[in-house]
Amino acid sequence: MHNYERTTLFIDGQWVTPAGTDAIEVIDPSTEKAIGSAPGGTAADVDAAVAAARRAFDPLITVAERRERVAAVIAAMEKRLPDIAETITREMGAPLRIAQTVQTQVPLAVARGFADVLDAFEFEERAGHSLIVREPYGVVGAITPWNYPLYQVVAKVLPAIAAGCTVVLKPSNEAPLSVFEFIEAVEEAGLPAGVVNLVSGSGRVVGERIASHPGVDFVSFTGSTGVGQRVAELAAQSVKKVALELGGKSANVILDGGDLATAVKVGVGNAFLNGGQTCMAWTRMLVPASRYGEALDLVEAAASKYKVGDPWDPATRIGPSASAAQYKIVRGFIERAHREGARLITGGAEKIRDTGYYVAPTVFADVDPDSELGQEEVFGPVLAVIGFSDEADALRIANGTPYGLSGAVWAKDTDSAIAFARGVQTGQLDINGGMYNPIAPFGGYKKSGIGRETHKMILEHLTQKKNIFISMTESKVGLY
Ligand code: NAP
Repeated sequence: MHNYERTTLFIDGQWVTPAGTDAIEVIDPSTEKAIGSAPGGTAADVDAAVAAARRAFDPLITVAERRERVAAVIAAMEKRLPDIAETITREMGAPLRIAQTVQTQVPLAVARGFADVLDAFEFEERAGHSLIVREPYGVVGAITPWNYPLYQVVAKVLPAIAAGCTVVLKPSNEAPLSVFEFIEAVEEAGLPAGVVNLVSGSGRVVGERIASHPGVDFVSFTGSTGVGQRVAELAAQSVKKVALELGGKSANVILDGGDLATAVKVGVGNAFLNGGQTCMAWTRMLVPASRYGEALDLVEAAASKYKVGDPWDPATRIGPSASAAQYKIVRGFIERAHREGARLITGGAEKIRDTGYYVAPTVFADVDPDSELGQEEVFGPVLAVIGFSDEADALRIANGTPYGLSGAVWAKDTDSAIAFARGVQTGQLDINGGMYNPIAPFGGYKKSGIGRETHKMILEHLTQKKNIFISMTESKVGLY
């Protein structure tokens, strides 16, 4: 039984009444109707949560205790995944089959990956006559977006617990209800009061207070590049450490000799996954000029298989945009791309259903790499196809945006694909159909971010090193 009328925040191990009376209305984007609400927290609520997190922070917490906490949260979360999947479908419109798989099973795999990373992590090392110990960073302020509501929260809360930190979490206003269900799992896991705190509310109020709060040591933000810059500016005022996971405009580069049919099929699927609301989406498809016409035919055929509709229908592959605001943004991009001279192959900005924020899967050809559609993240089911003359041209276009989050390369063999991949300025990319790896480092180059989530690197980020010089006689080693 879901509880979609949330009136309390989770602070210091208790569900507490917020300091203010604001409420966030949560809208089902497939019906445009309200399905529930969450409290609109205030700066005072953030202050209470930070105070609780500070009290709960124990820099000398043992690794065994962290392991127990991580395992308990994973076990309690796993039981709730079917319910959380339903809530994700309801609050942000992901097709149920995507919610039951990518939206919930990937976070589970990632959470288990953190447990493995923790098991293998070396918290102490020797360097000559120094003992170097890694201590938890402190209170982590976590601010997350709506596109993969559970994944985003798991990717911040679980490694923070593994590192021995405590957390104040602000989920997105668009999709907070699934996060409340996750926090119930945290409650059931029996963590000490204050280790994980939830303050829902607006970015302007709750997010900015977290980013600027002197009691927060580390801000971990995922969202748009513009807001990430604002968060980093606020955090700089109290010299906090900042991790940013931001936007992308990734290139799927299909080189001459690559398997064009497979590359197009996989590439279209990647661009339209979760309605294109995926930071890693390959939203630019780069194809050799010599195979351009053939590629467009394949793209059109692949795109026509993406049925848009009711997210509860098992046949649906693309649900609505997650919100009215996102729907407007996506349609605006499509209209401007038209005006800028890109050639519409399929889809468009027209309303396709009477109710719900539905956008047709849209493909533009002849997209100028320097145009808005060639440069900016849309966050909707919109693919830009761009031709290139040779590999140098392909690399120039692939690297020619402010972002560097993801991408793909298809070439005649692995060595050629890796050789090209080495030149692409991006945090991760697939070659010849390589698969996402939940235990490898995830993060962006350029304006796609700072830092890495997942992998042992996240534990490196969330801990700080203390260098203890040991007496040289005692340590029986020389200076170097
Ligand atoms: P967003 O508008 O930047 O919001 C992200 C979070 O920041 C939300 O919780 C939001 O609160 C909060 N926020 C807004 N203004 C704030 C402020 N002034 N100070 C502090 N916090 C503030 O992004 P979004 O629309 O939710 O998500 C889409 C974006 O996230 C895309 O650009 C996508 O590429 C990016 N993303 C990146 C990754 C990655 O790993 N690199 C993953 C997923 C998504 P509200 O609830 O009030 O909006």
